[in-house]
Amino acid sequence: MDLRHWLEAAVTSHEDWAGGFGQFPPHPSLGVDDARFAAAFETFAERLKDNYPFFHPRYAGQMLKPPHPAAVVGYLTAMLINPNNHALDGGPATAQMEREAVQQLATMFGYDTHLGHLTTSGTLANLEALFVARELHPRDGIAFSTEAHYTHGRMCRVLGVAGHPVPVDDDGRMDLDALENLLRTERIGTVVLTAGTTALGAVEPLHEALALRERYGVRIHVDAAYGGFFTLLAGADGPEGLPKAPWRAISECDSIVVDPHKHGLQPYGCGAVLFRDPSVGHFYLHDSPYTYFTSEELHLGEISLECSRAGAAAAALWLTFQLLPPTPDGLGQALAAGRRAAIHWAQLIEESEHLELYQAPELDIVSYFPVTEPRTLSRLDEASGRILQAGMADTDDPVFLSTLRIGADRLTTRHPKLTADTDGARVLRSVLMKPESEGYVEHLHRRLEQLARA
Ligand SMILES: *Cc1c(COP(=O)(O)O)cnc(C)c1O
Repeated sequence: MDLRHWLEAAVTSHEDWAGGFGQFPPHPSLGVDDARFAAAFETFAERLKDNYPFFHPRYAGQMLKPPHPAAVVGYLTAMLINPNNHALDGGPATAQMEREAVQQLATMFGYDTHLGHLTTSGTLANLEALFVARELHPRDGIAFSTEAHYTHGRMCRVLGVAGHPVPVDDDGRMDLDALENLLRTERIGTVVLTAGTTALGAVEPLHEALALRERYGVRIHVDAAYGGFFTLLAGADGPEGLPKAPWRAISECDSIVVDPHKHGLQPYGCGAVLFRDPSVGHFYLHDSPYTYFTSEELHLGEISLECSRAGAAAAALWLTFQLLPPTPDGLGQALAAGRRAAIHWAQLIEESEHLELYQAPELDIVSYFPVTEPRTLSRLDEASGRILQAGMADTDDPVFLSTLRIGADRLTTRHPKLTADTDGARVLRSVLMKPESEGYVEHLHRRLEQLARA
């Protein structure tokens, strides 16, 4: 799709609608002449160049990429109206779009019933899930693995509940024996499992944890902020297919968080929280005199901790889902390409003399490190840092990576040839979340081999 054409169509469509309300003179206090705007815009555009090329496959670092053009056009068109999805009368159209898009997310996870809404972020969405968890188990703590997102510990403090980190196994997934020992203390009301950890994309054993829920009467919350859309690859044919069990188990869990602003092609400002039992909505009750009702239906502001939220975010997600729905044949195809890219690169790294794979990718995150001489952690850390910098500094053929710090124990258990002379080291990490990475990993690999040899 031609972005330039559709951006113009956005303005035209807005003018068509707005024109129906009659002309009025714009107030001079807000007037800006084109020459002044041109000057400010030039400076602005220049300053924005201080950025990394998130759109390009040579950017293989953090979880960053631009939104799909359909999301950009959807967001912009709705933003010209600027609806507020805190209530139905803040923008009836985008409130309805939010309901429909959230329904599509619920269907994707296999929820038969749900209560849910969009949030401004995964962190806020997790806060909502943990808030409901605390209301249901006010005296009990919340368990999450040491690989869980760091904001879970922070949000437990916000909520005034005890957070209990649980150790992980060698693959970076919650150790269920350790969890069960903790559950036996009867101090835990809710367990958070991560479907796709932020660091390495590890999928925690949700299906096995479900048995513990019955035994110990806890809630299970799934943090699928990063990995959620990978459920579209569960049981798929081909190398990109993922084991079904943990993904199918999500439909049995009590709440789910997914970030459309990560793998859902959306701009920032789009997380989502879903509850399996719609009756948890009563925990949000308020009687604000400002939020009035124009509908009998439960409105979105009634089931959200946040008040103002961009209706444009819902519009962007809705429009994107019209074209690339959250189904295996829709958005699933984009995730499959990134997953195949990760598998292919991991294979190349395993065959390399200059690079070593840190952990086999479960989703689309590849972790690796340069082979150094001597094979000490201090040398490894220094080499990873050097490659990160040298990759970005090369003006002819730059590559943009990220690093991840791993403790000495984990590194040396996993890679016994490494000698621990410090308490940890950085390894390299590439999130291949753009489908275009599939056609680019051989180039990335050659560049990485050159950088590792240098
Ligand atoms: C990104 C992420 C979060 C935080 O989400 P934000 O949208 O960045 O606030 C939480 N959990 C996991 C697993 C994540 O990957």
